Order: sequence, then structure tokens, then C-alpha cells
Amino acid sequence: MKILISNDDGYLAPGLIALADALASIAEILVVAPDSNRSGSSNSLTLERPLMLNQAANGFYYVNGTPTDCVHIALTGDLAPFKPDLVVSGINQGQNMGDDTLYSGTVAAATEGFLFGLPAIAFSQVHHGWEHVDAAAKAARDIVLRGFEGMSKPYLINVNIPNLPYAQLTTRVATRLGRRHASEGVIKTQDPRGRDIYWIGPPGAARDAGEGTDFYVTERGGISLTPLQLDLTHAAQLKALQQALG
Ligand code: MN
Repeated sequence: MKILISNDDGYLAPGLIALADALASIAEILVVAPDSNRSGSSNSLTLERPLMLNQAANGFYYVNGTPTDCVHIALTGDLAPFKPDLVVSGINQGQNMGDDTLYSGTVAAATEGFLFGLPAIAFSQVHHGWEHVDAAAKAARDIVLRGFEGMSKPYLINVNIPNLPYAQLTTRVATRLGRRHASEGVIKTQDPRGRDIYWIGPPGAARDAGEGTDFYVTERGGISLTPLQLDLTHAAQLKALQQALG
């Protein structure tokens, strides 16, 4: 098996290193990740400037671009002979649940693989700080090893892993995405030269964390796995829209 690995926290992130170490024992790996933290970059591609691909001492490639750029280059550039069977992203520092999935660069890296017809999995740890990141990486390896027999390919799966010791990461549950409240407002402050600046505020609390959601399962110590799709068409609104158009 050949696995392409990326992330959005950057090529030096402990979550990426732990995931690569864990997967190197079961597969041939290629790591291509952003040169800096690109969290929240969603599916953006860099179109207004060229990109550079460099290799670190540990063999990881890094790119001065987004997670989507990284996977795009890995699948279409001169690394392409690698031909992965699977694309994985992460392990992200912090949860990607509910509406987070739209903003996430971690999910986006997996999505780029999916768009190229490859099965893809995004991994995130629920809490910041990298506590039990090696346990999360072992759990991720277990999920990759087990596979998803019976699912149609390509699949795109969003995984959130609680920050728990490996022995406690025993429950895996298929979930739907929950919903968040609207994010908190921007925070206005001033830079050292007295100019107004704004920080994007934290995401909102869970609004739908009901049974069956990613929020619900991880809150109770389970690993949440959500199958994602990309068709944003609101099918139930199609007819009403046509009627509104007259
Ligand atoms: Mn991130």
C-alpha cells in the first residue's frame, strides 16, 4: 500500500510526524505538507504566485502553499509516479467537527485526494496540545489497516479522535456532522503602532450535538468517523427555487 500524507498544521507539526511514523510501519509513505501553519485555509489553491517544493532532512516534502496545493502537486507533479492508494491528512491539532469541516485545511487535503478519485481520510485530535498524539496515531493506523470493506470507492471520511491513552480508544462510531452556533465575533485590538487590527474569534459552541453526531460520540470518549460528500446542492429546495423563478 502507498499512502500520501498531508496536513494543515505544517510539516513540523507533531501530529503529522506521529501519523507518518505510525503509517510507515504498514505502508510506503510520501509526505507533502505546507511549510507553515495553514489551518483554516479550506480548499484554497494558490494561483497568484508560483509554488516551491523542498525536502526536509527527514524526507518530508514541504510547500509554500496550502494543504490543497500540497496534495495537488503530489498527485499531478513529478512526484506523481508515487501513485498513492490512499490519501490521509492530519493528525490535526484540534477538532474538525460539524461546520468546521467547511473551513478545515485538514479536511481539504483529504478532499483534494478524493476529487482525484482516491479514497481519503482526515484525522483530527479533539483537543489542542498534542496530548496522547502517539495514541491517536496508533488509532489512525488501526483504522487504515482495518479499511472500509463494503464502502463504495472513493470514500472521504472525517475522523475525530479524543485525546485519550491508546487503551481507552476502543470505540469507533459512524456519525453525522453536528452543527455549531455562529462563531463568536471578531476581536478588535491595536497593533504596536496604534492601528486597529482584528482577530477572527473562536468557533461557536455546538448547537446540534445530539445522539449520532460527531460531537456526541467524541464527548463520550469514542472515535467519530463521518463519511462526507461534496455535492452542496440542496435537493429539497430545487422545486421551490424553480417555482420562485416562475
Ligand atoms: Mn490545523
